[in-house]
Amino acid sequence: TVNGEGSGSCFFTEDLRGKVIRGARIKAILLEAAFTENDDTLYLEYQPLLDLKTNKIAGLEALARLRDEKLGVISPAEFIPLAEEMQLILPLGQKIIRLAFGLMNRLEKSGYGDVQVNVNISGIQLIQEDFTDGLIRMAQKSEVNLKNLVLEITESVLSDNYEAVNERLGRIKTFGVRVAIDDFGTGYSSLARARELNADYLKIDKCFVDNLLTLSSDETIVGDIISMAHRMGHCVVAEGVEDERQYQYLKEHGCDYIQGYYFSRALAPEKVMELIKGVNSLTVAKIREVSRKR
Ligand code: C2E
Ligand code: MG
Ligand code: MG
Ligand code: MG
Repeated sequence: TVNGEGSGSCFFTEDLRGKVIRGARIKAILLEAAFTENDDTLYLEYQPLLDLKTNKIAGLEALARLRDEKLGVISPAEFIPLAEEMQLILPLGQKIIRLAFGLMNRLEKSGYGDVQVNVNISGIQLIQEDFTDGLIRMAQKSEVNLKNLVLEITESVLSDNYEAVNERLGRIKTFGVRVAIDDFGTGYSSLARARELNADYLKIDKCFVDNLLTLSSDETIVGDIISMAHRMGHCVVAEGVEDERQYQYLKEHGCDYIQGYYFSRALAPEKVMELIKGVNSLTVAKIREVSRKR
């Protein structure tokens, strides 16, 4: 911190200096990516959602990445907060939706119109006056069916602008778009809120899945969340499933979908199309093998 006397720089540690420089570089990359039309600095990978009842890929979650010559691939966990801070999340978010619609269009044209695509949306995007109209316009332009789109929103969005968000989501849903509450269980939302929002999916946060089978109390919590969510009409997705035992537990407790490295990491669009095309005849073990070779 820089407080009072002396020049600020003597209070900067090397560590902080490095962090500031990296942050500034990422911000510059974001700025460039936001306003350059055909630029592949920002791109999407897609992580499959496995339907535990049918063993088929029910959907794909679009996950944003940023590539840079010097810094390599930058995680959204790092750059999305910076993009939000700079308000660049609006143009970048539009780009993300357009890219995801591109894949949706390919899926629909290839006869996989039943595969849903999940897109993560920031609160800042959602509270824009013209968000819904923009979404509809883009869907028409990309020739995609909005019934195949799922918007993922995190709980923090709900805590800040609950009324506005609730109203916005209500209107969006009339166009067939579905809504998932992401990272469920980590923040402010509750089953009561999920019901008010009429959320289609609850995505149980990875931290609960991590502790599954090591902490016996969490084991019960996940089972309880699944059955309560079902009673209230929501589908349940478990995120961050990494091993066989978690997979078995979730299957036994009636979880609807899983996502995680156990099954598949996020894949490039080409790889995901390949996977989807071959998948109907594949076993879970085979899918795991295919998605690993990426
Ligand atoms: P999220 O939406 O909860 O996405 C799940 C994250 O967990 C992803 O990280 C995914 O790669 C990772 N993951 C999935 N399965 C496993 C697993 O088995 N083990 C482990 N260790 N991790 C797993 P990622 O891609 O780094 O994304 C981080 C977060 O950044 C996302 O969390 C989401 O909140 C945000 N994000 C990503 N893409 C976008 C986007 O396009 N827009 C917005 N607003 N946020 C995004
Ligand atoms: Mg998500
Ligand atoms: Mg999530
Ligand atoms: Mg999460």
